[in-house]
Amino acid sequence: MKQRSETARRVAASPYDVCVIGGGATGAGCALDAQLRGLKTVLLDAGDFGSATSSASTKLIHGGLRYLQQAVMELDASHYRLVRQALHERQLMMRNAPNLVRTRHFAIPCFSLLEAVYYDVGSKLYDWLAGESSLSSSRWVSRVNSLAAMPCLQPQGLQGTVVYSDGQFDDARYNLALVQSCAAAGGDALNYAPVMSFDSNEQGRLIAAIVKDAESGDRIRVSAKAFVNATGPFSDRVRRLDDPDAKERLRLSRGVHILLPLPEDFGNHALLIPKTEDKRLMFAIPWQGRLLVGTTETESDLSDEMIVTCGEAEYLLRHLSRYLSRTFQLSDIVSAMVGVRPLVRSADLRDTTKLSRDYEIEVSRSGLISILGGKWTVYRAMAEDAVNAVQQAVTGHTTTCVTRAHPLLGSLPESTDGYAQEAVALARANGITPETARHLLQKFGTSAGRVLDLAQEDALLLAPLVEGAPQIQAEVLYSVREEMAVSLEDVLSRRLGLQYFDWRFAAQAAPAAARILARELGWCADRARSEVGSYTGLISRYLTTLGLDGVPTATLN
Ligand SMILES: Cc1cc2nc3c(=O)[nH]c(=O)nc-3n(C[C@H](O)[C@H](O)[C@H](O)COP(=O)(O)OP(=O)(O)OC[C@H]3O[C@@H](n4cnc5c(N)ncnc54)[C@H](O)[C@@H]3O)c2cc1C
Repeated sequence: MKQRSETARRVAASPYDVCVIGGGATGAGCALDAQLRGLKTVLLDAGDFGSATSSASTKLIHGGLRYLQQAVMELDASHYRLVRQALHERQLMMRNAPNLVRTRHFAIPCFSLLEAVYYDVGSKLYDWLAGESSLSSSRWVSRVNSLAAMPCLQPQGLQGTVVYSDGQFDDARYNLALVQSCAAAGGDALNYAPVMSFDSNEQGRLIAAIVKDAESGDRIRVSAKAFVNATGPFSDRVRRLDDPDAKERLRLSRGVHILLPLPEDFGNHALLIPKTEDKRLMFAIPWQGRLLVGTTETESDLSDEMIVTCGEAEYLLRHLSRYLSRTFQLSDIVSAMVGVRPLVRSADLRDTTKLSRDYEIEVSRSGLISILGGKWTVYRAMAEDAVNAVQQAVTGHTTTCVTRAHPLLGSLPESTDGYAQEAVALARANGITPETARHLLQKFGTSAGRVLDLAQEDALLLAPLVEGAPQIQAEVLYSVREEMAVSLEDVLSRRLGLQYFDWRFAAQAAPAAARILARELGWCADRARSEVGSYTGLISRYLTTLGLDGVPTATLN
């Protein structure tokens, strides 16, 4: 990807065919699709790419057993359509970025014969809906074999488990791979560039977006023939920049995940907790060396603080403990994340859990194309429909969408062992540990070699950022030079994943990472110190809100 300052100059020298607002899954997907159809495209995000909902998901590429249940129980065709579409899209996502996606087996514990039959039939229906894109057939597993595969399961009353398969992915890196693929195809992408207002012509059609470059403070006017509002939970705000009288179309639902150390006796399967107190599904999923547990679902608005509360964490721990032979405490939490689902409003539903994850495209009188709702798994299909609407508006006809079979930048061929063999070779050739090599292959794919090449400038870049985690210093440099990272959080959370692995590790790594950022971005010593201070301050707030110790003291000398 081009350097940020160079991109900012290009964006100011527009015009474009399409300006996509919002660099989460939906917007990044739209920008890639539009650019690949030959439309000159710019993607703008108010913060970092993928920094809102798209990096706070359950990391599942799935049709959703819950939505299937709703389709059957409520005879609701929209849920059924969405599950079917999502199962098809799951296969495309797995093909287009195999290093970022994997198959995961899920076990549903059953404590009665009725439950066993219910979930067995449900998962068979799920297989049937997936058709040729089914990942493997679901099956009933006896109590003895279930406990052998997952010794941590609560044995009391357990009859057995229903095991089915779904996709799991690295949401933040997939988001970034979409942005990079758009840039590789000739598009422009700029983070920290919020759209503040629009300009229109005499006929009332939108002709430019007024953007503030949050890094330089400059005001940029971005002209384009079409504007796509892909701002997820913020979509109503952007619709109101276009039309102050626009009625709200979204309801927002807050979802929380916590990360725990992954117990050795958890096994390789994920656990689906079929019913919480408020009749929801919950997951406990091995993810990047941790146990990802979530999610909650509570109605929310944009003024909510995006920090996990004690109540939310206790809710998740309470439900998890009922299904395991061991208990976790608040003090076990190593990290957590919060996201807000953008759900399309339904006049007659009060409960957000019942709202469909379907999406809608709205074209305003002035031409703003808003893509509302949806979920990660269907981002590509959403983008295809939105870009069709763009082409209809601009040229009156549509051309073929090519994203179904477009490998994302960095994508490695599929591996059955999580790139273990390739990691051994890469580790030997570069004098790094196999864990670091595997981490690099999974996060950066074919660009792992380019990350390691940076050590030719300075061999110290091969050193770990912090003891006990695979991330190395070269990744920080690569994130700044090639992936448009401009802050510690951009680097340590979405690009390297250290913040998700362990808040305290990330805080410890902050000074070393800040030194590299400062060198590359020309920060003065005060700016670097203040960056470390605000990052460790943020981690401290996460920890203290949950009453956890280990508040970071790291500073930059
Ligand atoms: C807890 C939780 C778990 C989930 N789990 C799953 C799952 O496992 N699988 C699945 O398929 N889906 C899941 N989803 C749903 C999925 O994550 C979302 O549907 C998806 O990420 C929404 O992406 P988006 O791009 O529309 O929104 P976002 O990712 O929120 O992106 C919107 C972007 O717009 C930017 N923006 C806002 N205002 C402006 C402006 N004025 N100018 C420029 N940019 C602006 C923001 O900075 C932001 O980056 C989950 C959602 C939640 C909350």
